[in-house]
Amino acid sequence: MIPFIDLGAQQARIRDKVDAGIAAVLGHGAYIMGPEVGALEERLAAYAGVRHCISCSSGTDALILALLAQGLRPGQGVIVPSFTFAASAEVMPVLGAVPVFAEVDGETFNLDPAGLPAALEAGRAAGIEVVGVIGVGLFGQPADYAAIRAFADAEGLWVMDDAAQSFGASLNNVRVGQLADITCTSFFPAKPLGCYGDGGAVFVDDDEKAEIMRSCRVHGMGATRYENIRIGMTARLDTIQAAILDAKMDIFDDELDQRQQVADRYADYLGDLVETPGLAAGATSSWAQYTVKLPAGSNRDAVMAHLKDQGVPSAIYYPVPMHQQPPYQRFPASNGGLSVTADLCARVMALPMHPYLEEAQQQQVATALASALATTGAAA
Ligand SMILES: *Cc1c(COP(=O)(O)O)cnc(C)c1O
Repeated sequence: MIPFIDLGAQQARIRDKVDAGIAAVLGHGAYIMGPEVGALEERLAAYAGVRHCISCSSGTDALILALLAQGLRPGQGVIVPSFTFAASAEVMPVLGAVPVFAEVDGETFNLDPAGLPAALEAGRAAGIEVVGVIGVGLFGQPADYAAIRAFADAEGLWVMDDAAQSFGASLNNVRVGQLADITCTSFFPAKPLGCYGDGGAVFVDDDEKAEIMRSCRVHGMGATRYENIRIGMTARLDTIQAAILDAKMDIFDDELDQRQQVADRYADYLGDLVETPGLAAGATSSWAQYTVKLPAGSNRDAVMAHLKDQGVPSAIYYPVPMHQQPPYQRFPASNGGLSVTADLCARVMALPMHPYLEEAQQQQVATALASALATTGAAA
Protein backbone atom coordinates (compact mmCIF):
# COMPACT_ATOMS: atom_id res chain seq x y z
CA MET A 1 0.00 0.00 0.00
CA ILE A 2 1.32 3.47 -0.87
CA PRO A 3 1.32 5.56 2.32
CA PHE A 4 -1.39 8.26 2.32
CA ILE A 5 1.06 10.41 4.27
CA ASP A 6 4.59 9.32 5.20
CA LEU A 7 5.70 10.65 8.55
CA GLY A 8 8.30 7.88 8.79
CA ALA A 9 10.31 9.15 5.83
CA GLN A 10 10.22 12.62 7.33
CA GLN A 11 11.28 11.41 10.75
CA ALA A 12 14.32 9.66 9.30
CA ARG A 13 15.55 13.09 8.09
CA ILE A 14 15.21 14.85 11.44
CA ARG A 15 15.52 12.01 13.95
CA ASP A 16 18.84 13.14 15.42
CA LYS A 17 17.60 16.66 16.11
CA VAL A 18 14.29 15.36 17.47
CA ASP A 19 16.09 12.96 19.82
CA ALA A 20 18.43 15.71 21.01
CA GLY A 21 15.55 18.13 21.47
CA ILE A 22 13.49 15.68 23.52
CA ALA A 23 16.56 14.75 25.56
CA ALA A 24 17.21 18.42 26.32
CA VAL A 25 13.65 18.83 27.64
CA LEU A 26 13.97 15.68 29.76
CA GLY A 27 17.21 17.14 31.06
CA HIS A 28 15.90 20.53 32.15
CA GLY A 29 12.45 19.24 33.12
CA ALA A 30 10.43 22.34 32.17
CA TYR A 31 7.68 20.32 30.50
CA ILE A 32 5.19 23.17 30.58
CA MET A 33 6.16 26.51 28.99
CA GLY A 34 9.83 25.60 28.89
CA PRO A 35 12.33 27.73 26.93
CA GLU A 36 11.69 25.79 23.69
CA VAL A 37 8.12 27.14 23.63
CA GLY A 38 9.15 30.80 23.55
CA ALA A 39 11.92 30.09 21.06
CA LEU A 40 9.49 28.32 18.72
CA GLU A 41 6.97 31.16 18.99
CA GLU A 42 9.65 33.65 17.95
CA ARG A 43 10.71 31.47 15.05
CA LEU A 44 7.13 30.97 13.83
CA ALA A 45 6.20 34.65 14.21
CA ALA A 46 9.25 35.62 12.14
CA TYR A 47 8.38 32.98 9.54
CA ALA A 48 4.78 34.17 9.25
CA GLY A 49 5.85 37.81 9.33
CA VAL A 50 3.67 38.87 12.26
CA ARG A 51 4.46 40.36 15.66
CA HIS A 52 3.05 37.55 17.79
CA CYS A 53 2.75 33.77 17.70
CA ILE A 54 0.83 32.27 20.62
CA SER A 55 1.33 28.52 20.66
CA CYS A 56 -1.38 26.34 22.16
CA SER A 57 -2.70 22.82 22.62
CA SER A 58 -4.48 22.25 19.29
CA GLY A 59 -5.83 23.94 16.19
CA THR A 60 -9.29 23.88 17.74
CA ASP A 61 -8.03 25.61 20.89
CA ALA A 62 -6.25 28.12 18.65
CA LEU A 63 -9.63 29.00 17.11
CA ILE A 64 -11.23 29.31 20.57
CA LEU A 65 -8.41 31.52 21.87
CA ALA A 66 -8.66 33.69 18.76
CA LEU A 67 -12.44 34.05 19.14
CA LEU A 68 -11.95 35.02 22.80
CA ALA A 69 -9.40 37.63 21.69
CA GLN A 70 -11.86 38.94 19.08
CA GLY A 71 -14.37 39.38 21.91
CA LEU A 72 -17.01 37.04 20.42
CA ARG A 73 -20.06 37.00 22.69
CA PRO A 74 -22.81 34.38 23.09
CA GLY A 75 -25.53 34.76 20.48
CA GLN A 76 -23.33 36.56 17.97
CA GLY A 77 -22.75 34.99 14.56
CA VAL A 78 -19.66 34.20 12.50
CA ILE A 79 -19.76 33.32 8.80
CA VAL A 80 -17.87 30.11 7.98
CA PRO A 81 -17.86 27.80 4.95
CA SER A 82 -19.99 24.67 5.23
CA PHE A 83 -17.40 22.67 3.25
CA THR A 84 -14.73 22.36 5.96
CA PHE A 85 -13.52 20.30 8.88
CA ALA A 86 -15.89 20.37 11.87
CA ALA A 87 -13.58 22.43 14.09
CA SER A 88 -13.96 25.57 11.92
CA ALA A 89 -17.66 25.72 12.82
CA GLU A 90 -17.68 23.87 16.15
CA VAL A 91 -15.85 26.59 18.06
CA MET A 92 -18.73 29.05 17.74
CA PRO A 93 -21.36 26.93 19.58
CA VAL A 94 -18.69 25.95 22.12
CA LEU A 95 -18.63 29.66 23.03
CA GLY A 96 -22.42 30.01 22.82
CA ALA A 97 -22.16 31.75 19.44
CA VAL A 98 -23.61 30.82 16.06
CA PRO A 99 -21.95 29.59 12.86
CA VAL A 100 -23.57 31.01 9.72
CA PHE A 101 -22.82 28.73 6.79
CA ALA A 102 -21.64 30.11 3.48
CA GLU A 103 -20.96 28.72 0.00
CA VAL A 104 -17.55 27.78 -1.39
CA ASP A 105 -15.96 28.12 -4.82
CA GLY A 106 -15.99 24.89 -6.82
CA GLU A 107 -12.44 25.35 -8.14
CA THR A 108 -10.53 26.42 -5.02
CA PHE A 109 -12.80 24.67 -2.44
CA ASN A 110 -12.58 27.88 -0.40
CA LEU A 111 -15.14 30.46 0.75
CA ASP A 112 -16.69 32.12 -2.31
CA PRO A 113 -16.62 35.88 -1.68
CA ALA A 114 -19.65 36.21 -3.98
CA GLY A 115 -21.63 34.08 -1.51
CA LEU A 116 -20.92 36.27 1.52
CA PRO A 117 -23.88 38.68 1.10
CA ALA A 118 -26.32 35.75 1.04
CA ALA A 119 -24.76 34.30 4.18
CA LEU A 120 -24.92 37.64 5.98
CA GLU A 121 -28.55 37.94 4.90
CA ALA A 122 -29.33 34.45 6.26
CA GLY A 123 -27.73 35.33 9.60
CA ARG A 124 -29.66 38.59 9.87
CA ALA A 125 -32.91 36.91 8.81
CA ALA A 126 -32.41 34.57 11.79
CA GLY A 127 -32.05 37.63 14.03
CA ILE A 128 -28.34 37.15 14.59
CA GLU A 129 -25.75 39.88 14.91
CA VAL A 130 -23.00 38.70 12.56
CA VAL A 131 -19.60 40.01 13.67
CA GLY A 132 -16.93 38.11 11.74
CA VAL A 133 -15.92 35.84 8.87
CA ILE A 134 -13.69 32.79 9.13
CA GLY A 135 -12.06 31.82 5.86
CA VAL A 136 -10.47 28.39 5.73
CA GLY A 137 -7.40 27.57 3.64
CA LEU A 138 -8.84 24.23 2.65
CA PHE A 139 -6.39 21.52 1.51
CA GLY A 140 -3.56 24.07 1.75
CA GLN A 141 -4.62 26.99 -0.44
CA PRO A 142 -5.48 30.31 1.25
CA ALA A 143 -8.94 31.72 0.67
CA ASP A 144 -9.38 34.94 -1.37
CA TYR A 145 -8.71 37.31 1.52
CA ALA A 146 -8.59 40.49 -0.59
CA ALA A 147 -12.20 39.95 -1.62
CA ILE A 148 -13.26 38.64 1.80
CA ARG A 149 -11.73 41.67 3.47
CA ALA A 150 -13.41 44.10 1.07
CA PHE A 151 -16.78 42.64 2.03
CA ALA A 152 -15.91 42.44 5.72
CA ASP A 153 -14.69 46.04 5.85
CA ALA A 154 -17.85 47.28 4.16
CA GLU A 155 -20.00 45.37 6.68
CA GLY A 156 -17.86 46.06 9.76
CA LEU A 157 -16.85 42.43 10.28
CA TRP A 158 -13.51 41.05 11.45
CA VAL A 159 -11.68 38.40 9.42
CA MET A 160 -10.09 35.23 10.77
CA ASP A 161 -8.03 32.68 8.83
CA ASP A 162 -8.38 29.03 9.84
CA ALA A 163 -5.02 28.00 8.40
CA ALA A 164 -4.88 24.57 10.03
CA GLN A 165 -4.18 23.14 6.57
CA SER A 166 -2.58 26.12 4.85
CA PHE A 167 0.24 27.27 7.11
CA GLY A 168 3.28 27.88 4.90
CA ALA A 169 1.22 28.97 1.89
CA SER A 170 0.94 32.52 0.57
CA LEU A 171 -1.19 34.84 -1.52
CA ASN A 172 0.50 37.40 -3.81
CA ASN A 173 3.74 36.85 -1.90
CA VAL A 174 2.08 37.57 1.45
CA ARG A 175 2.42 34.65 3.82
CA VAL A 176 -0.42 32.97 5.69
CA GLY A 177 -0.41 34.68 9.06
CA GLN A 178 -0.75 38.14 7.53
CA LEU A 179 -3.83 37.58 5.37
CA ALA A 180 -6.45 38.11 8.07
CA ASP A 181 -6.82 40.03 11.33
CA ILE A 182 -5.96 36.85 13.19
CA THR A 183 -4.75 33.45 11.95
CA CYS A 184 -4.94 30.00 13.53
CA THR A 185 -3.08 26.83 12.67
CA SER A 186 -2.85 23.23 13.86
CA PHE A 187 0.17 21.02 14.48
CA PHE A 188 -1.88 17.79 14.39
CA PRO A 189 0.59 15.19 13.02
CA ALA A 190 -1.03 14.95 9.58
CA LYS A 191 -1.01 18.71 8.89
CA PRO A 192 1.74 20.19 6.69
CA LEU A 193 3.56 21.35 9.84
CA GLY A 194 2.70 18.68 12.40
CA CYS A 195 4.15 17.72 15.76
CA TYR A 196 4.06 14.30 17.47
CA GLY A 197 0.82 14.90 19.33
CA ASP A 198 -1.67 17.76 19.48
CA GLY A 199 -0.64 21.38 19.09
CA GLY A 200 -1.61 24.66 17.47
CA ALA A 201 -0.86 28.36 17.27
CA VAL A 202 -2.44 31.76 16.73
CA PHE A 203 -0.74 34.56 14.76
CA VAL A 204 -1.61 38.20 15.32
CA ASP A 205 -0.04 41.67 15.09
CA ASP A 206 -2.24 43.28 17.74
CA ASP A 207 -0.37 43.43 21.09
CA GLU A 208 -3.50 43.53 23.21
CA LYS A 209 -5.07 40.48 21.55
CA ALA A 210 -1.80 38.58 21.93
CA GLU A 211 -1.83 39.39 25.64
CA ILE A 212 -5.44 38.19 26.02
CA MET A 213 -4.58 34.86 24.37
CA ARG A 214 -1.42 34.38 26.45
CA SER A 215 -3.59 34.91 29.52
CA CYS A 216 -6.49 32.74 28.32
CA ARG A 217 -4.29 29.73 27.58
CA VAL A 218 -3.36 29.70 31.29
CA HIS A 219 -6.79 30.10 32.96
CA GLY A 220 -7.01 33.83 32.36
CA MET A 221 -4.00 34.54 34.48
CA GLY A 222 -2.87 38.08 35.18
CA ALA A 223 0.61 39.32 36.00
CA THR A 224 1.08 36.44 38.44
CA ARG A 225 -0.10 32.87 38.18
CA TYR A 226 -2.83 32.83 40.81
CA GLU A 227 -4.27 36.16 39.81
CA ASN A 228 -7.15 35.32 37.43
CA ILE A 229 -8.29 38.39 35.54
CA ARG A 230 -10.50 36.69 32.94
CA ILE A 231 -12.15 33.33 32.22
CA GLY A 232 -9.72 31.16 30.31
CA MET A 233 -8.79 27.54 29.79
CA THR A 234 -5.76 25.29 29.82
CA ALA A 235 -4.41 25.37 26.31
CA ARG A 236 -0.62 25.37 26.28
CA LEU A 237 1.72 23.65 23.81
CA ASP A 238 3.91 21.00 25.52
CA THR A 239 7.61 21.88 25.62
CA ILE A 240 8.50 18.53 24.02
CA GLN A 241 6.23 19.34 21.05
CA ALA A 242 7.95 22.73 20.67
CA ALA A 243 11.32 20.96 20.47
CA ILE A 244 9.95 18.59 17.81
CA LEU A 245 8.47 21.47 15.80
CA ASP A 246 11.83 23.24 15.85
CA ALA A 247 13.35 20.24 14.07
CA LYS A 248 10.44 20.13 11.62
CA MET A 249 10.82 23.82 10.79
CA ASP A 250 14.38 23.16 9.57
CA ILE A 251 12.99 21.19 6.62
CA PHE A 252 9.55 22.81 6.25
CA ASP A 253 10.35 25.02 3.24
CA ASP A 254 12.06 22.15 1.48
CA GLU A 255 9.01 19.96 2.12
CA LEU A 256 6.70 22.64 0.74
CA ASP A 257 8.76 22.67 -2.48
CA GLN A 258 8.55 18.88 -2.67
CA ARG A 259 4.78 18.96 -2.12
CA GLN A 260 4.45 21.39 -5.03
CA GLN A 261 6.47 19.04 -7.25
CA VAL A 262 4.22 16.15 -6.26
CA ALA A 263 1.16 18.28 -7.08
CA ASP A 264 2.63 19.25 -10.46
CA ARG A 265 3.23 15.61 -11.36
CA TYR A 266 -0.29 14.63 -10.30
CA ALA A 267 -1.71 17.39 -12.51
CA ASP A 268 0.20 15.86 -15.44
CA TYR A 269 -0.74 12.26 -14.74
CA LEU A 270 -4.36 12.73 -13.71
CA GLY A 271 -5.50 15.74 -15.74
CA ASP A 272 -7.27 13.64 -18.36
CA LEU A 273 -9.02 11.40 -15.82
CA VAL A 274 -10.46 13.74 -13.21
CA GLU A 275 -10.67 17.43 -12.35
CA THR A 276 -7.38 18.19 -10.62
CA PRO A 277 -7.19 21.01 -8.07
CA GLY A 278 -6.20 24.44 -9.32
CA LEU A 279 -4.56 27.38 -7.60
CA ALA A 280 -6.02 30.87 -7.82
CA ALA A 281 -3.79 33.52 -9.42
CA GLY A 282 -1.09 34.57 -6.96
CA ALA A 283 -1.76 31.68 -4.56
CA THR A 284 0.61 28.98 -3.40
CA SER A 285 -0.56 25.92 -1.49
CA SER A 286 0.98 23.87 1.27
CA TRP A 287 -0.87 20.91 -0.26
CA ALA A 288 -2.20 19.43 2.96
CA GLN A 289 -4.37 17.25 0.73
CA TYR A 290 -4.50 16.49 -2.96
CA THR A 291 -8.23 16.51 -3.67
CA VAL A 292 -9.62 15.68 -7.10
CA LYS A 293 -13.19 15.80 -8.36
CA LEU A 294 -14.49 12.62 -9.99
CA PRO A 295 -16.60 12.98 -13.13
CA ALA A 296 -20.28 13.60 -12.29
CA GLY A 297 -22.12 10.31 -11.86
CA SER A 298 -19.05 8.28 -10.90
CA ASN A 299 -19.54 5.57 -8.31
CA ARG A 300 -17.06 6.98 -5.79
CA ASP A 301 -17.32 4.11 -3.30
CA ALA A 302 -16.54 1.61 -6.04
CA VAL A 303 -13.66 3.74 -7.34
CA MET A 304 -12.16 3.93 -3.84
CA ALA A 305 -12.56 0.18 -3.30
CA HIS A 306 -10.88 -0.50 -6.64
CA LEU A 307 -8.01 1.86 -5.76
CA LYS A 308 -7.56 0.11 -2.46
CA ASP A 309 -7.30 -3.24 -4.24
CA GLN A 310 -4.49 -1.70 -6.32
CA GLY A 311 -2.63 -0.53 -3.21
CA VAL A 312 -3.76 3.09 -3.41
CA PRO A 313 -5.46 4.57 -0.34
CA SER A 314 -7.92 7.44 -0.73
CA ALA A 315 -10.17 9.46 1.56
CA ILE A 316 -13.15 11.81 1.37
CA TYR A 317 -12.71 15.28 2.80
CA TYR A 318 -15.57 15.94 3.41
CA PRO A 319 -18.54 13.66 2.69
CA VAL A 320 -21.22 15.65 4.54
CA PRO A 321 -21.47 19.47 4.58
CA MET A 322 -21.34 20.96 8.06
CA HIS A 323 -24.77 22.58 7.77
CA GLN A 324 -26.30 19.11 7.28
CA GLN A 325 -24.58 17.47 10.26
CA PRO A 326 -27.27 16.87 12.94
CA PRO A 327 -25.97 19.25 15.65
CA TYR A 328 -25.52 22.05 13.10
CA GLN A 329 -28.82 21.86 11.23
CA ARG A 330 -30.38 24.48 13.52
CA PHE A 331 -27.87 27.15 12.50
CA PRO A 332 -28.46 29.49 9.57
CA ALA A 333 -27.13 28.59 6.13
CA SER A 334 -26.82 30.82 3.12
CA ASN A 335 -30.17 31.82 1.63
CA GLY A 336 -28.99 31.11 -1.88
CA GLY A 337 -28.49 27.44 -0.96
CA LEU A 338 -25.19 25.60 -0.91
CA SER A 339 -25.30 23.66 -4.16
CA VAL A 340 -21.55 23.89 -4.88
CA THR A 341 -20.87 22.50 -1.41
CA ALA A 342 -23.30 19.63 -2.03
CA ASP A 343 -21.69 18.85 -5.40
CA LEU A 344 -18.20 18.81 -3.88
CA CYS A 345 -19.23 16.55 -1.02
CA ALA A 346 -20.58 14.10 -3.60
CA ARG A 347 -17.57 14.13 -5.95
CA VAL A 348 -14.32 14.86 -4.10
CA MET A 349 -11.69 12.28 -3.34
CA ALA A 350 -8.26 12.83 -1.78
CA LEU A 351 -5.23 10.88 -2.98
CA PRO A 352 -1.92 10.15 -1.22
CA MET A 353 -0.01 13.42 -0.69
CA HIS A 354 3.24 13.99 1.15
CA PRO A 355 6.68 15.39 0.32
CA TYR A 356 8.24 11.96 -0.09
CA LEU A 357 5.84 10.56 -2.68
CA GLU A 358 7.88 9.21 -5.59
CA GLU A 359 7.21 9.55 -9.28
CA ALA A 360 6.75 5.78 -9.70
CA GLN A 361 4.18 5.75 -6.90
CA GLN A 362 2.30 8.59 -8.54
CA GLN A 363 2.30 6.65 -11.81
CA GLN A 364 0.85 3.72 -9.89
CA VAL A 365 -1.89 6.01 -8.55
CA ALA A 366 -2.66 7.22 -12.09
CA THR A 367 -2.79 3.70 -13.53
CA ALA A 368 -5.02 2.50 -10.70
CA LEU A 369 -7.35 5.49 -11.07
CA ALA A 370 -7.65 4.99 -14.83
CA SER A 371 -8.63 1.36 -14.40
CA ALA A 372 -10.94 2.21 -11.51
CA LEU A 373 -12.83 4.75 -13.60
CA ALA A 374 -12.96 2.42 -16.61
CA THR A 375 -14.32 -0.56 -14.69
CA THR A 376 -16.65 0.85 -12.05
CA GLY A 377 -19.28 2.56 -14.19
CA ALA A 378 -21.88 5.04 -13.00
CA ALA A 379 -23.34 5.44 -9.55
CA ALA A 380 -26.46 3.44 -8.84
C1 LIG B 1 -7.31 20.05 11.62
C2 LIG B 1 -8.18 21.22 11.48
C3 LIG B 1 -8.59 21.99 12.58
C4 LIG B 1 -8.39 21.54 14.01
O1 LIG B 1 -7.10 21.26 14.39
P1 LIG B 1 -6.82 20.28 15.63
O2 LIG B 1 -5.39 20.52 15.94
O3 LIG B 1 -7.11 18.89 15.17
O4 LIG B 1 -7.70 20.71 16.75
C5 LIG B 1 -9.32 23.14 12.35
N1 LIG B 1 -9.64 23.53 11.11
C6 LIG B 1 -9.28 22.82 10.03
C7 LIG B 1 -9.65 23.33 8.67
C8 LIG B 1 -8.55 21.63 10.17
O5 LIG B 1 -8.19 20.95 9.08
